[in-house]
Amino acid sequence: MKTWEFDYIVVGGGASGCVLAARLAQDTTARVALLERGKVDSNQWIHIPATFFKAIQSPDVEMQVSEPDPSLESRPFVVPQGRVLGGGSSVNGMIYMRGQAQDYDAWADQFGCEGWGYSDVLPVYKRQERNTRLADRYHGTSGRLIVDDPSEKHPVTQRIIDAAVACGLPFNPDFNGASQDGVGWYQVTAHRGRRQSAATCFLKPALKRENLTLLTEIEVNRLQIEHRRAKAIEAFDANGEPVLIKAAREIILCAGSFQSPKLLMLSGVGPKADLQRHGIDVVYDSPEVGANYQDHVGAPLTARLSEKVGLHGADRGLKSVGHGLNYLLFRRGLLTSNLLQGGACVDTSGSGRPDVQYNIAPFAPGAPGMPPLDFHALQIHPMTMRPKSRGRLSLRSADPRESLRFQAEALGHDADLATLRRGVRLARDILNQAGLRELVSEEVWPGPGISVAEGSNNLDDAIRAQARTIYHPSGTCQMGGSDEAVLDPQLRVRGVDGLRVADCSVMPTLTSGNTGAPTMMIADRCADFILADAP
Ligand SMILES: Cc1cc2nc3c(=O)[nH]c(=O)nc-3n(C[C@H](O)[C@H](O)[C@H](O)COP(=O)(O)OP(=O)(O)OC[C@H]3O[C@@H](n4cnc5c(N)ncnc54)[C@H](O)[C@@H]3O)c2cc1C
Repeated sequence: MKTWEFDYIVVGGGASGCVLAARLAQDTTARVALLERGKVDSNQWIHIPATFFKAIQSPDVEMQVSEPDPSLESRPFVVPQGRVLGGGSSVNGMIYMRGQAQDYDAWADQFGCEGWGYSDVLPVYKRQERNTRLADRYHGTSGRLIVDDPSEKHPVTQRIIDAAVACGLPFNPDFNGASQDGVGWYQVTAHRGRRQSAATCFLKPALKRENLTLLTEIEVNRLQIEHRRAKAIEAFDANGEPVLIKAAREIILCAGSFQSPKLLMLSGVGPKADLQRHGIDVVYDSPEVGANYQDHVGAPLTARLSEKVGLHGADRGLKSVGHGLNYLLFRRGLLTSNLLQGGACVDTSGSGRPDVQYNIAPFAPGAPGMPPLDFHALQIHPMTMRPKSRGRLSLRSADPRESLRFQAEALGHDADLATLRRGVRLARDILNQAGLRELVSEEVWPGPGISVAEGSNNLDDAIRAQARTIYHPSGTCQMGGSDEAVLDPQLRVRGVDGLRVADCSVMPTLTSGNTGAPTMMIADRCADFILADAP
């Protein structure tokens, strides 16, 4: 069997793994390996911002399909996950959103995650960021991650923003500044027509370091743990040959919210009874591995446009040729945009903090699992920001090739349904504002037949039928101060030495917003912990 040895092994070359491996390689005495099961990010659809939806349909993405979900009328909840260098950061919608200060303060104060309060994480965000417009106490201008304004501002999105302002929402020029409240243009991880992924911004510049080795198309199966110390990983290479990679110092799992808990369970760290049922030797009984699954869930208010002013058909025929030429010759036009240019964060419950995020866009997705609508349309898409529903992941067997048993419970908690009800109500108010109403020929979803009035059961059914992932699975290897938490606040796996997790799965509760930026922050912070402990 092929055998290698490194000091640090980072498993998973996604948003977190690319940041972490690059940072660890700054310790020039350390040999660092980054292992990624997917291919290098050579797919052109990854790098052109507007074609991310093509990347999502490529082999660079894998679908995680839940069991029939009782909270969605027995529909499965389907969650795409990157399977390529850069992971989610190579295929995501590029919205840059850190969440709210209170998210991090709650991690510290309620979950015992010492060192994760807002004042601890803000400097990490700033040092990662190279913001093209903002330079103040919230923003950095010399980091590796370029954060830019949308390259284009679509007139339909502008009309929706104006309608939201007319509805009473404040215009917000910076969702990552003093207040998240309001409506405005997102900042994005795309710049001059190119996606700014964790692979391009953090990993690739670090690859010139001789002590950093990138191995793609290596699928890790399990860890070898001896006397409660993580010693090595067992994997298959691109030819299906087994390889053994030993770690002299530490192994860090960055395989994402599905695969990191799976690898822990396959290696004997997880709920004891489950592991024993599958004949897995129990290294440490950790009942919370795979529990606490959370995702943001959305249901998009959708309206047909009365004129051909949306993005429908922009990827076909002569229009697509025009956009392609504009991009290739001048690096301008629609293809330079992430398309999801505008958004809003709104306190719909009166709690004092936004609880619904809206994506607003001049095109509309179809029903879950269906293609986009075949006509010009817009969406005002409310999404839960701090979901209360919790799902669970567990093994079906001890075979690493077998898929996880995924119980999503996407709308399992009534509070989340109530949040979406309020979200849809406000979306309809925005749609009905003068200035936007004239642009619309009909509301397609929930549709004129569905009342959004308080107590409308029809609306509940409509939301359950439309609810979909916002692509932010998290929480399945949560950190915390209590002994039950999978990780301690320095991201060390309880019960095993030399092993940490540093991806989106570590969040005890979801941040109020998109998870790409928070995940890269988590990885950076993990590097601080490891380098501080380094011999
Ligand atoms: C379609 C989509 C749209 C999104 N839109 C946005 C957005 O607009 N803004 C935003 O902030 N966030 C967005 N996100 C979320 C964001 O991208 C994720 O939160 C982030 O990528 C999570 O990072 P991670 O490191 O935890 O996991 P990932 O980035 O998923 O990385 C995990 C990596 O580990 C690899 N891996 C897994 N198992 C193994 C194994 N056994 N062996 C070797 N390698 C393995 C995977 O192939 C993958 O590359 C989106 C995500 C998706 C999928």
